[in-house]
Amino acid sequence: MNLLENIRVVLVEPIFGGNVGSVCRAMNNNGITDLAIVNPRPEFDWDDARKLSCNAKEQLEARKEYATLADAVAGCTVVAGTSARTGFYRDTAYSPKEFAPIGLESAQDQKIALVFGREDKGLFNEELALCTHIIQIPSSELYTSLNLSHAVYVCCYEMFSAAGIFQPSEETAQEADSAFRERMFAVWREMMIETEFTHDQKLDHMMMGLRRIFTRGKLTVPDCKILMGLAKQTLWVTNQWRNEQEKKNH
Ligand code: SAH
Repeated sequence: MNLLENIRVVLVEPIFGGNVGSVCRAMNNNGITDLAIVNPRPEFDWDDARKLSCNAKEQLEARKEYATLADAVAGCTVVAGTSARTGFYRDTAYSPKEFAPIGLESAQDQKIALVFGREDKGLFNEELALCTHIIQIPSSELYTSLNLSHAVYVCCYEMFSAAGIFQPSEETAQEADSAFRERMFAVWREMMIETEFTHDQKLDHMMMGLRRIFTRGKLTVPDCKILMGLAKQTLWVTNQWRNEQEKKNH
Protein backbone atom coordinates (compact mmCIF):
# COMPACT_ATOMS: atom_id res chain seq x y z
CA MET A 1 0.00 0.00 0.00
CA ASN A 2 1.35 3.38 -0.97
CA LEU A 3 1.45 5.53 2.16
CA LEU A 4 0.65 8.66 0.21
CA GLU A 5 -2.72 7.25 -0.92
CA ASN A 6 -3.83 7.52 2.67
CA ILE A 7 -3.25 11.26 2.86
CA ARG A 8 -6.31 13.41 2.21
CA VAL A 9 -5.96 17.13 1.51
CA VAL A 10 -9.03 19.00 2.74
CA LEU A 11 -9.73 22.56 1.58
CA VAL A 12 -12.30 24.39 3.64
CA GLU A 13 -14.45 26.80 1.57
CA PRO A 14 -11.74 27.91 -0.85
CA ILE A 15 -12.49 31.19 -2.65
CA PHE A 16 -10.35 31.15 -5.78
CA GLY A 17 -10.56 28.53 -8.51
CA GLY A 18 -6.97 29.27 -9.51
CA ASN A 19 -5.77 28.34 -6.05
CA VAL A 20 -7.63 25.04 -6.09
CA GLY A 21 -6.17 24.22 -9.52
CA SER A 22 -2.71 24.99 -8.17
CA VAL A 23 -3.43 22.82 -5.12
CA CYS A 24 -4.21 19.86 -7.44
CA ARG A 25 -0.93 20.37 -9.22
CA ALA A 26 1.01 20.70 -5.94
CA MET A 27 -0.59 17.48 -4.68
CA ASN A 28 0.22 15.59 -7.87
CA ASN A 29 3.82 16.79 -7.85
CA ASN A 30 4.08 15.07 -4.50
CA GLY A 31 2.16 11.90 -5.31
CA ILE A 32 -0.87 12.81 -3.18
CA THR A 33 -4.23 12.34 -4.90
CA ASP A 34 -7.11 12.43 -2.41
CA LEU A 35 -8.69 15.91 -2.51
CA ALA A 36 -11.75 16.91 -0.50
CA ILE A 37 -13.47 20.28 -0.63
CA VAL A 38 -15.71 21.42 2.19
CA ASN A 39 -18.76 23.44 1.15
CA PRO A 40 -17.70 24.70 -2.30
CA ARG A 41 -19.05 28.19 -2.95
CA PRO A 42 -21.66 28.48 -5.72
CA GLU A 43 -19.72 31.30 -7.44
CA PHE A 44 -16.51 29.24 -7.51
CA ASP A 45 -14.60 29.54 -10.83
CA TRP A 46 -14.08 25.94 -12.01
CA ASP A 47 -12.59 27.11 -15.33
CA ASP A 48 -9.77 28.82 -13.50
CA ALA A 49 -9.31 25.74 -11.37
CA ARG A 50 -8.98 23.54 -14.46
CA LYS A 51 -6.53 25.97 -16.11
CA LEU A 52 -4.17 26.09 -13.16
CA SER A 53 -4.35 22.39 -12.43
CA CYS A 54 -2.50 21.76 -15.76
CA ASN A 55 -1.89 18.02 -15.97
CA ALA A 56 -3.69 17.39 -12.69
CA LYS A 57 -7.22 17.91 -14.12
CA GLU A 58 -8.23 14.31 -13.38
CA GLN A 59 -7.43 14.94 -9.79
CA LEU A 60 -9.71 17.99 -9.77
CA GLU A 61 -12.54 15.98 -11.32
CA ALA A 62 -12.04 13.17 -8.80
CA ARG A 63 -12.44 15.52 -5.80
CA LYS A 64 -14.92 14.67 -3.08
CA GLU A 65 -17.23 17.31 -1.68
CA TYR A 66 -18.57 17.51 1.85
CA ALA A 67 -20.96 19.86 3.64
CA THR A 68 -18.78 20.18 6.75
CA LEU A 69 -15.20 19.60 7.86
CA ALA A 70 -16.46 17.02 10.34
CA ASP A 71 -17.84 14.98 7.42
CA ALA A 72 -14.65 15.39 5.35
CA VAL A 73 -12.41 14.03 8.13
CA ALA A 74 -14.83 11.52 9.65
CA GLY A 75 -12.76 8.53 8.48
CA CYS A 76 -9.36 10.01 9.37
CA THR A 77 -7.31 9.20 12.48
CA VAL A 78 -4.80 12.05 12.45
CA VAL A 79 -6.34 15.39 11.42
CA ALA A 80 -3.70 18.08 10.97
CA GLY A 81 -4.96 21.65 10.67
CA THR A 82 -2.67 24.27 9.18
CA SER A 83 -2.51 27.82 10.45
CA ALA A 84 -0.23 30.82 10.03
CA ARG A 85 -1.45 32.31 13.28
CA THR A 86 -0.54 31.46 16.83
CA GLY A 87 -2.81 31.97 19.81
CA PHE A 88 -5.91 30.08 20.94
CA TYR A 89 -4.64 26.50 21.11
CA ARG A 90 -2.45 26.91 18.05
CA ASP A 91 0.56 27.48 20.33
CA THR A 92 1.88 23.95 20.21
CA ALA A 93 2.33 23.78 16.49
CA TYR A 94 4.53 21.37 14.49
CA SER A 95 6.56 22.38 11.48
CA PRO A 96 5.63 20.39 8.35
CA LYS A 97 8.97 18.54 8.64
CA GLU A 98 8.31 17.61 12.27
CA PHE A 99 4.80 16.50 11.49
CA ALA A 100 5.66 14.35 8.45
CA PRO A 101 6.91 11.20 10.29
CA ILE A 102 4.02 11.43 12.76
CA GLY A 103 1.48 11.64 9.94
CA LEU A 104 3.15 8.89 7.91
CA GLU A 105 3.13 6.49 10.83
CA SER A 106 -0.67 6.66 10.98
CA ALA A 107 -0.96 6.71 7.19
CA GLN A 108 0.50 3.19 7.10
CA ASP A 109 -2.89 1.71 7.80
CA GLN A 110 -5.32 4.59 8.31
CA LYS A 111 -6.49 7.68 6.44
CA ILE A 112 -5.09 10.97 7.68
CA ALA A 113 -6.05 14.54 6.73
CA LEU A 114 -4.16 17.76 6.09
CA VAL A 115 -6.67 20.60 6.49
CA PHE A 116 -6.32 24.04 4.91
CA GLY A 117 -8.43 27.13 5.55
CA ARG A 118 -10.09 29.88 3.55
CA GLU A 119 -7.84 32.36 1.74
CA ASP A 120 -9.35 35.29 3.69
CA LYS A 121 -10.23 33.90 7.11
CA GLY A 122 -8.25 30.68 7.51
CA LEU A 123 -9.78 27.98 9.72
CA PHE A 124 -12.37 28.84 12.39
CA ASN A 125 -11.78 27.79 15.99
CA GLU A 126 -14.50 25.16 15.87
CA GLU A 127 -12.74 23.66 12.83
CA LEU A 128 -9.35 23.69 14.58
CA ALA A 129 -11.07 21.94 17.48
CA LEU A 130 -11.51 18.88 15.21
CA CYS A 131 -7.76 18.73 14.59
CA THR A 132 -5.41 16.43 16.46
CA HIS A 133 -2.32 18.41 15.35
CA ILE A 134 -1.59 21.96 14.22
CA ILE A 135 1.00 22.61 11.53
CA GLN A 136 2.59 26.02 11.21
CA ILE A 137 4.84 26.62 8.21
CA PRO A 138 7.89 28.68 9.21
CA SER A 139 7.80 32.04 7.47
CA SER A 140 9.23 35.52 7.82
CA GLU A 141 7.65 38.04 10.16
CA LEU A 142 7.41 40.31 7.11
CA TYR A 143 4.50 38.20 5.91
CA THR A 144 3.59 35.02 7.73
CA SER A 145 0.63 33.93 5.63
CA LEU A 146 1.34 31.82 2.55
CA ASN A 147 -0.79 31.48 -0.54
CA LEU A 148 -3.13 28.51 -0.03
CA SER A 149 -1.55 26.37 -2.77
CA HIS A 150 1.96 27.17 -1.55
CA ALA A 151 0.98 26.05 1.94
CA VAL A 152 -0.39 22.81 0.45
CA TYR A 153 2.81 22.36 -1.54
CA VAL A 154 5.11 22.69 1.46
CA CYS A 155 3.09 20.24 3.57
CA CYS A 156 2.69 17.68 0.75
CA TYR A 157 6.37 18.01 -0.11
CA GLU A 158 7.43 17.16 3.44
CA MET A 159 5.13 14.12 3.47
CA PHE A 160 6.48 13.00 0.10
CA SER A 161 10.10 13.54 1.14
CA ALA A 162 9.66 11.68 4.42
CA ALA A 163 8.02 8.77 2.59
CA GLY A 164 11.47 8.15 1.03
CA ILE A 165 10.11 7.22 -2.39
CA PHE A 166 12.22 9.61 -4.41
CA GLN A 167 15.89 8.85 -4.94
CA PRO A 168 17.93 11.67 -6.45
CA SER A 169 19.91 10.57 -9.49
CA GLU A 170 23.44 9.54 -8.66
CA GLU A 171 26.66 9.31 -10.64
CA THR A 172 26.68 5.86 -12.19
CA ALA A 173 29.94 6.10 -14.12
CA GLN A 174 32.83 4.05 -12.79
CA GLU A 175 35.49 5.95 -10.87
CA ALA A 176 38.85 6.11 -12.64
CA ASP A 177 41.57 4.03 -11.00
CA SER A 178 45.10 5.24 -10.41
CA ALA A 179 46.56 3.54 -13.50
CA PHE A 180 44.01 5.19 -15.77
CA ARG A 181 44.47 8.60 -14.11
CA GLU A 182 48.23 8.31 -14.54
CA ARG A 183 47.85 7.57 -18.26
CA MET A 184 45.78 10.73 -18.57
CA PHE A 185 48.28 12.82 -16.56
CA ALA A 186 51.11 11.53 -18.75
CA VAL A 187 49.37 12.86 -21.87
CA TRP A 188 48.74 16.20 -20.18
CA ARG A 189 52.37 16.40 -19.22
CA GLU A 190 53.39 15.77 -22.81
CA MET A 191 50.89 18.35 -24.01
CA MET A 192 52.28 20.97 -21.64
CA ILE A 193 55.75 20.33 -22.99
CA GLU A 194 54.78 20.26 -26.67
CA THR A 195 52.63 23.40 -26.47
CA GLU A 196 55.41 25.11 -24.50
CA PHE A 197 52.87 25.95 -21.86
CA THR A 198 55.52 25.94 -19.18
CA HIS A 199 59.30 25.79 -18.71
CA ASP A 200 60.98 22.54 -17.75
CA GLN A 201 61.74 23.83 -14.24
CA LYS A 202 58.10 24.61 -13.60
CA LEU A 203 56.64 21.47 -15.15
CA ASP A 204 56.52 19.30 -12.02
CA HIS A 205 55.02 22.14 -10.03
CA MET A 206 52.34 22.64 -12.72
CA MET A 207 51.59 18.92 -12.78
CA MET A 208 51.03 18.95 -9.01
CA GLY A 209 48.59 21.83 -9.44
CA LEU A 210 46.80 19.94 -12.19
CA ARG A 211 46.59 16.78 -10.06
CA ARG A 212 45.05 18.81 -7.24
CA ILE A 213 42.45 20.35 -9.57
CA PHE A 214 41.50 17.11 -11.29
CA THR A 215 41.24 15.05 -8.11
CA ARG A 216 39.25 17.60 -6.08
CA GLY A 217 36.07 15.73 -7.04
CA LYS A 218 35.53 12.10 -8.00
CA LEU A 219 37.19 11.63 -11.38
CA THR A 220 35.22 9.08 -13.40
CA VAL A 221 36.39 6.98 -16.35
CA PRO A 222 34.38 9.14 -18.83
CA ASP A 223 35.84 12.31 -17.21
CA CYS A 224 39.33 10.90 -17.68
CA LYS A 225 38.57 9.99 -21.29
CA ILE A 226 37.45 13.56 -22.04
CA LEU A 227 40.58 15.03 -20.44
CA MET A 228 42.81 12.54 -22.25
CA GLY A 229 41.05 13.22 -25.58
CA LEU A 230 41.45 16.96 -25.16
CA ALA A 231 45.16 16.65 -24.44
CA LYS A 232 45.70 14.22 -27.36
CA GLN A 233 43.88 16.51 -29.77
CA THR A 234 45.92 19.48 -28.58
CA LEU A 235 49.10 17.47 -29.14
CA TRP A 236 47.92 16.51 -32.63
CA VAL A 237 47.10 20.12 -33.60
CA THR A 238 50.41 21.31 -32.18
CA ASN A 239 52.30 18.74 -34.22
CA GLN A 240 50.39 19.63 -37.40
CA TRP A 241 51.17 23.26 -36.86
CA ARG A 242 54.81 22.49 -36.23
CA ASN A 243 55.08 20.40 -39.41
CA GLU A 244 53.54 23.23 -41.42
CA GLN A 245 55.98 25.71 -39.95
CA GLU A 246 58.86 23.41 -40.87
CA LYS A 247 57.57 23.03 -44.44
CA LYS A 248 57.33 26.82 -44.77
CA ASN A 249 60.89 27.28 -43.52
CA HIS A 250 62.41 24.84 -46.02
N1 SAH B 1 -5.73 35.30 6.65
C1 SAH B 1 -5.72 33.90 6.86
C2 SAH B 1 -4.70 33.28 5.97
C3 SAH B 1 -5.26 32.20 5.23
S1 SAH B 1 -4.12 31.59 4.08
C4 SAH B 1 -5.35 33.58 8.27
O1 SAH B 1 -4.80 34.45 8.92
O2 SAH B 1 -5.59 32.49 8.75
C5 SAH B 1 -5.00 30.15 3.61
C6 SAH B 1 -4.59 28.89 4.31
O3 SAH B 1 -3.25 28.55 3.95
C7 SAH B 1 -4.58 28.95 5.80
O4 SAH B 1 -5.85 28.76 6.36
C8 SAH B 1 -3.68 27.77 6.12
O5 SAH B 1 -4.40 26.57 5.93
C9 SAH B 1 -2.64 27.87 5.03
N2 SAH B 1 -1.48 28.67 5.46
C10 SAH B 1 -1.07 29.86 4.99
N3 SAH B 1 0.06 30.26 5.61
C11 SAH B 1 0.37 29.28 6.49
C12 SAH B 1 1.44 29.08 7.43
N4 SAH B 1 2.43 29.98 7.60
N5 SAH B 1 1.45 27.95 8.15
C13 SAH B 1 0.48 27.02 8.00
N6 SAH B 1 -0.55 27.16 7.15
C14 SAH B 1 -0.60 28.26 6.40
